[in-house]
Amino acid sequence: MKITSNSPETTGELAAFLAGKLQPGDVLTLEGDLGAGKTTFTKALGAALGVTKTINSPTFTIIKEYAGDLPFYHMDAYRLEDTEEDLGFEEYFFGSGVTVVEWASYIEDFLPEERLDIRVSYEGEDARSFFFTPRSSHFETICEEITNEYISD
Ligand code: ADP
Ligand code: MG
Repeated sequence: MKITSNSPETTGELAAFLAGKLQPGDVLTLEGDLGAGKTTFTKALGAALGVTKTINSPTFTIIKEYAGDLPFYHMDAYRLEDTEEDLGFEEYFFGSGVTVVEWASYIEDFLPEERLDIRVSYEGEDARSFFFTPRSSHFETICEEITNEYISD
């Protein structure tokens, strides 16, 4: 399923809509080139989950934890390419918070099977496409709700 966004604000609204559907223990992955909009999406998602602190890309720390309506975990696996080191991912993925993983393919072996995969692609200066792949019935339901909200034909 594909949703197009024509501004960072529209991306933020999409992320906030998704945030409103999430439950404790949900895991989202974000793939896309540098500058695609993964962090922009994550900041809006976290804010909608009640995180009041500024969410910055955790490239150098790999995992950042925030307090919101529920715990919010932001991972960036960019620096983990080709590593097999387990940084205790299960504690996050199977915990009571929501986890967003940027560059998730670098830690593919550790990812839970039930998750929502999101690919962001650059289409033009302010245009981005978001491709959603639900990997559980819970996320299939959410994707249907996103479709109903954003795709009108
Ligand atoms: P990534 O984390 O994927 O490397 P960022 O979110 O850090 O990307 O950067 C995306 C950049 O693209 C930001 O400067 C943002 O303002 C800009 N941008 C322009 N249009 C959009 C859009 N429709 N959605 C998201 N970001 C956009
Ligand atoms: Mg980023």
